[in-house]
Amino acid sequence: MSKGQRVGIFGGLFDPPHIGHLIIAQAVLDEFRLHQIIFVPAGNPPHKRAHSSYAARYHMTKLAIRDNRYFAISDIEKHMPGKTYTVDVVAALRASLQARLYLIIGSDQWEEIGTWKRPQELFKLCRVIVAPRPGHTLDTHRLSHPMLHVSKTPLLDVSSTMIRKKIKNHHSIMYYVRADVLKYIKRKKLYG
Ligand code: ATP
Repeated sequence: MSKGQRVGIFGGLFDPPHIGHLIIAQAVLDEFRLHQIIFVPAGNPPHKRAHSSYAARYHMTKLAIRDNRYFAISDIEKHMPGKTYTVDVVAALRASLQARLYLIIGSDQWEEIGTWKRPQELFKLCRVIVAPRPGHTLDTHRLSHPMLHVSKTPLLDVSSTMIRKKIKNHHSIMYYVRADVLKYIKRKKLYG
């Protein structure tokens, strides 16, 4: 990774990774002319509970991105002890990558950013790109920070919660996730 490169960091539980994640990542890559997006499956996030193991979420994310040469995956959170806070993850990635970092989050996460650990420090480490999400309007008067960008990504009404619910109700999740991810979920009987 060379010094002038612009790299997106896309963290999440990816439980499971869905087309919303993939479409947002590709749209942000294009809009902000990023060189790469690194997907970072969450280890032990403070605000959310995982419904499948780290290994399963990592594997599904790897399957989901595998045909896109601009997408990569990091297991950095696997090795972090205790709760994994975004600011610590971004700081660690910044120390290891010689690149300009762009943290990508949905507007649901933006609404919560005030509850994150050291949010102000985050803006010193990276730019933040917010992807609008249905039902989570953007509070525009909080959006004038020079390190903050709102992306023009389409509104996509899809979430991992919705997919887990469909599986529980024996509804198809075909097209909501990549085919390989669907196969893996079935084989491992996840979310049943
Ligand atoms: P869950 O329903 O379990 O809460 P999720 O669909 O929000 O999961 P995560 O893996 O928690 O998925 O999300 C990772 C990141 O992607 C978060 O910043 C989230 O806001 C964003 N994101 C997920 N789905 C969308 C979407 N449809 N539109 C915009 N951003 C999204």
